[in-house]
Amino acid sequence: MNNDAPRQHFASDNYAGMCPQARHWLLEADATGHQPAYGDDIWTQRVSEGLRHLFQTDCDVYFVFNGTAANSLALASMCQSYHSVICTPQAHIDTDECGGPEFFSNGSKLLTTDPAAPGAALAKLTPDEIERLVTKRSDIHYPKPKVVSITQSTELGTVYSVEEVRAIAAIAKRRQLKVHMDGARFANAVAHLGCHPSEITWRAGVDVLCFGGTKNGIPVGEAVIFFDRTLSEDFAYRVKQAGQLASKMRFISAPWVGMLEGDTWLANARHANEMARRLYHRINSVPGVRVMHEPQANAVFAYLPEPAIKVLQNEKGWKFYDFIAGGGCRLMCAWDTKVESVDAFAADIATVCAALR
Ligand SMILES: *Cc1c(COP(=O)(O)O)cnc(C)c1O
Repeated sequence: MNNDAPRQHFASDNYAGMCPQARHWLLEADATGHQPAYGDDIWTQRVSEGLRHLFQTDCDVYFVFNGTAANSLALASMCQSYHSVICTPQAHIDTDECGGPEFFSNGSKLLTTDPAAPGAALAKLTPDEIERLVTKRSDIHYPKPKVVSITQSTELGTVYSVEEVRAIAAIAKRRQLKVHMDGARFANAVAHLGCHPSEITWRAGVDVLCFGGTKNGIPVGEAVIFFDRTLSEDFAYRVKQAGQLASKMRFISAPWVGMLEGDTWLANARHANEMARRLYHRINSVPGVRVMHEPQANAVFAYLPEPAIKVLQNEKGWKFYDFIAGGGCRLMCAWDTKVESVDAFAADIATVCAALR
């Protein structure tokens, strides 16, 4: 590492700290002195109300520490141990949660779709693939499909359109499957689509949304939002048993006040998406770089020459992943990524690639 190692990196949007609005309300929550614990505080109630207002529906809201818990517990609430969950091969629930969904559901199996199916290269499920998996087996020896899980925006930085979500939910409904949305980067998807958040969730047929806060500027915490309230029965017990019930819950919930106020969540996501677009335009025509697809959310996926990756990481001190979601480098922008950081990174990519030729 050289001494000029840049402060901002492109490894993950969770490298970023908390945004000023989140910090402000975190401190405000502290200033309210003694508050009831375990979510009975004014802050948790205010934010839950705020989320119901945002989504324009009477949803049931819970807060947990991270996305793995949010997904695992949400899926467990919909599945018996003999059920299964349909997802893509890139799905975070399958590749990055250490078996959490299977563990918390006491064994529900994840059924991943065909990596060669249409849509798979963009980490998307399609109605046809869902139909194929649901109808593949109907005998007693195979775990019964119960849930379709989609990630919005996806693990490859792509975004399902409103129509795509609707079509998936329609086939799910026909096949009596529930629809779960891993929204670790939900904000980035809404920012890209320019739609109302209700349009790609409950209005499209989504039953449960794990709404990510951490990657969007919250210090810690994700919201689990049940649009179908029949699915959240006893969910509070599940959260507690899993060690995910924060006693001082106000410190997880209060920062969301700052995210909801003035649509900070959307502004943060728009900025991150814009930085990814900027990075894309800066490196797309660099000889040796092959961008996998145009970014829609806040990540650029690109193949770089192997020696270039080594130099960028080991000599230039840039941090980014080169193994996520099956090939290519994942270059991730955050709510606080600076234009100068993007430009400096892009310039180094260009310089290093040129030196190899
Ligand atoms: C980051 C992320 C999560 C949450 O991960 P945690 O580290 O458990 O908070 C969930 N899904 C996707 C797609 C993610 O990128």
